[in-house]
Amino acid sequence: MLSTTEIDRLAAMANAVRPDWPIRSLRTGIATNHRARAYQDVAVAMAWIATDPATRTPGRLDEAGPWWDAAQAGSSGQEHGRSDPRSPRCQVVGHGSYPVRNCGACRFESLDPSDPTPEPGPSRYAEAAARGAQACREAIGAGRRAAARTDERKG
Ligand SMILES: [Zn+2]
Repeated sequence: MLSTTEIDRLAAMANAVRPDWPIRSLRTGIATNHRARAYQDVAVAMAWIATDPATRTPGRLDEAGPWWDAAQAGSSGQEHGRSDPRSPRCQVVGHGSYPVRNCGACRFESLDPSDPTPEPGPSRYAEAAARGAQACREAIGAGRRAAARTDERKG
């Protein structure tokens, strides 16, 4: 949800890039059609269309297009309500916060609970520690034997 200050700043940003777009109409367009979006998403999408030579008017922001994909690129904010509200959501009950094309809840639920991958547990840690300690003892012993042989040759 954009605040009035954020709307003013986005309008000013677009006007700075495209001085032929009046701030007043930018402000109205953003407030009317994009108020529910995240500040960062609108800023990215607005910068995208404003710098695209193919864009004639800021009304292009109201259309679906790569500028809204750009707004989501690299954003892990989907779980935090920062994504494009028009992006289709997973229809499974309880998955509504995930996008349909990449639902983390569906992926989790598809995992086989009988997966034999062992959990690292205390017994495995103890076993690993014992192997590590044995390897250290062997290395120390080998070092001592090598040192003793060197001393024999010297002596
Ligand atoms: Zn799902």
